[in-house]
Amino acid sequence: MILVHSGVVTGIEGFLIEVEVDVRPGLPGFEIVGLPSKTVRESRERVRSALRNAGFKFPAQKVIVNLAPAHYPKDGAAFDLPIALGILAHQGFLSPTSLHKRIFAGELSLSGTLKRINGVLSLIDLAREHGFQLVLPQANAPEAALAGDRTVVLAPSLSQLVQFLVGRSTAPPLPRFTFAPQVPKAAGPVIKGQAHAKRALEIAARGRHHIMLMGPPGVGKTLLATQAQRLLPPLTREEMLILSKIYEAAGLLIPDAPPPTARPLRAPHHSVSQAGLIGSSSGKPGEITLAHLGILLLDEFPEFSLNTLQGLREPLDHKQVQLARAEHRLTYPADFWLVATANPCPCGYLGTSLRLCTCTSQDLARYRRKLRGPLLDRIEMFCYLPPLSPEELEEPAAPWPANPPSARQGPVGNTLPRSPHAQKFLYQAQKNLGLSARGVDSTWRIAATIAELDGAPCIDEPQVAEALQYRWEVQMHLIA
Ligand SMILES: [Zn+2]
Repeated sequence: MILVHSGVVTGIEGFLIEVEVDVRPGLPGFEIVGLPSKTVRESRERVRSALRNAGFKFPAQKVIVNLAPAHYPKDGAAFDLPIALGILAHQGFLSPTSLHKRIFAGELSLSGTLKRINGVLSLIDLAREHGFQLVLPQANAPEAALAGDRTVVLAPSLSQLVQFLVGRSTAPPLPRFTFAPQVPKAAGPVIKGQAHAKRALEIAARGRHHIMLMGPPGVGKTLLATQAQRLLPPLTREEMLILSKIYEAAGLLIPDAPPPTARPLRAPHHSVSQAGLIGSSSGKPGEITLAHLGILLLDEFPEFSLNTLQGLREPLDHKQVQLARAEHRLTYPADFWLVATANPCPCGYLGTSLRLCTCTSQDLARYRRKLRGPLLDRIEMFCYLPPLSPEELEEPAAPWPANPPSARQGPVGNTLPRSPHAQKFLYQAQKNLGLSARGVDSTWRIAATIAELDGAPCIDEPQVAEALQYRWEVQMHLIA
């Protein structure tokens, strides 16, 4: 019995598969156990033809292949290569030791060349974890180059790979790839006024505080929200690889297309289904995973169905999402920065002099329950954008954001000391505003981000006072 290692990818995670190949005396036959029947039929045909066309003989005996563990859903094509190699080793064309500490994955064409397979980046991670070498079709060279991993060996065809494994030739070189992240231009577009909202977004971006921008139609909520992408630091190479894996699982990474160079900004329409937003039971990642390491913009937040929004609770708490599938759970990352926009009331004009608000108090109460309901304290910051004042309309328009973020931004520490003044101030505010314990924690977090952004030595009263301005309880007083 010959043992060959291969791998399978579920979501963006790779798992080791043992391919056991046995050739026994008896009536000629070819049996594969552990794969769906349709895949088995196709794989048998390809392996048989590829071996013959590569100049080897298919054994006139009983060939039995077992793929273990059986419970992983397997896309059979990538097992062609390990199956063929197992048969060749059994016949003495290869030494079984040349297969040790290597993972083989590749689809065979009938002529014996190797065809491109999916999930290569996750297989590279798998090989690295186990300290194995990964042998891949040469057609997968672009992805292998992204990872820049020296443990990958490329092979154009079965016969060329056999030459390499018996030590008669060297493997083709891995192409070079230099990662160049997209760096935001010196300054953003010209946006008039709304200094308060701009400052709020800068704080929210630095501390990755989820934020809601509220205001009547036409005050620039959506424009500011989309430009907030410029406030985030450039993508790192490590992050580019994670995003590439996600896009590959979603079927968005086209072979030979350039890899992602910027953080994602996903803005699903409010009619999006829960499966579309969170991910589907078939294993397709949702918008929250496509927004990983970037922005999830929920424009017109109250228009989303409550049921759909409920699905955000778990991912917001755990920065990942679990999708239940028939056999096992599938986990995708979902560490996104949530930016939402909303009108202050159903008609949109509450608190403005533009037009009279026509909403009843019941309308308003229902609307606010919906705003707050499903996500409770998970949205930490709120900011009201009033219509531009005559002064703001007159002032010279400036580009925003003025400065791109520095390439290196560590996470906000929360290690800054809290002054006794600040503690006393927040204690008073908690009583006056009826802040929950969670609201108090949130305020400290926002204040810590402000202190860090402003280079303050500690969290003092001014930082707590500013942080409180962005709390729901205070913003509601401002509007009503
Ligand atoms: Zn209204």
